[in-house]
Amino acid sequence: MIQLYIPLNFLGVIYREIKQSLADIERMFGLLDEHQEVQDKPGAPELAVQGGAIEFRNVSFAYDERRVVIKDLSFNVPAGQTVAVVGHSGAGKSTLSRLLYRFYEVSDGDIRIDGQDIREVQQVSLRKSIGIVPQDTVLFNDTIAYNIAYGRPGATQSDVERAAKAAHIHHFIETLPDGYQTPVGERGLKLSGGEKQRVAIARTILKNPAILIFDEATSALDSHSEQAIQQELRELSRNRTTLIIAHRLSTIVHADQILVMSQGELIERGSHQELLDKGGAYARMWATQQHQQLELSDDGNQMA
Ligand code: ATP
Repeated sequence: MIQLYIPLNFLGVIYREIKQSLADIERMFGLLDEHQEVQDKPGAPELAVQGGAIEFRNVSFAYDERRVVIKDLSFNVPAGQTVAVVGHSGAGKSTLSRLLYRFYEVSDGDIRIDGQDIREVQQVSLRKSIGIVPQDTVLFNDTIAYNIAYGRPGATQSDVERAAKAAHIHHFIETLPDGYQTPVGERGLKLSGGEKQRVAIARTILKNPAILIFDEATSALDSHSEQAIQQELRELSRNRTTLIIAHRLSTIVHADQILVMSQGELIERGSHQELLDKGGAYARMWATQQHQQLELSDDGNQMA
């Protein structure tokens, strides 16, 4: 009986391992290739990126045709500039980044990069030119080096280290007994939210895209990590066209333009100061967040 039990137990371990790897692949596709419906047109050319200027022209979109989620939306992000999108939960902010990455096809209107309709170009070339730092970075059950190198197939160890240094995670990695060979992910070392975001930033530095999408995490990191990450992102977005999906207004006061969305529509746009002066929806959101921050710091003082 015992003789039979051991191999069965062993098989159980292998089964779990295989299941885990499949889960990784599914998660990866969940992130990178949510939808297979979007097809390249036969003979579609590669996207020719110059500065990476983005243009949404009268874009409408519905996940389900009975409910329109983006309504006749137009805006542009000039090459090299930073535009932030804000709005309450469910306003349609993340949907904009999914449409730009062409996870989904627009129902109406068009999206252009450097004047080219993204439906007319090869998806691979489109996705190569866009780097995403997502809300929650997926780490593969592999080494930390693999997780960074994933940004650019064929990257060497010195490329990986250079990117890790620029993302300010190199010193942390060096403190680990196995350094870059440390297994991370669900079965390895669990990285903190800030460390995971730094891995995503290092990946994106390696990828070196003309366009950057930063989907800000909903839950705030502690304020020290938050400021450090914001600094790294500002460096990363320098000279790149950047779209920030923002939850905390304090992180986007320097954006060239802020778009305020409500129920799929653009209700205000302008710089932070212009929007405050206007005294509309943005100014109200700003006042609410400032108030919440004050309450949080009051709680902190009382606890101290
Ligand atoms: P949050 O700030 O909470 O992240 P958001 O502004 O980014 O919200 P979106 O994720 O763009 O909002 O969602 C816009 C609307 O589309 C929401 O009403 C949401 O329920 C709906 N939606 C999002 N993803 C899907 C999907 N895959 N299928 C159907 N509806 C979806």
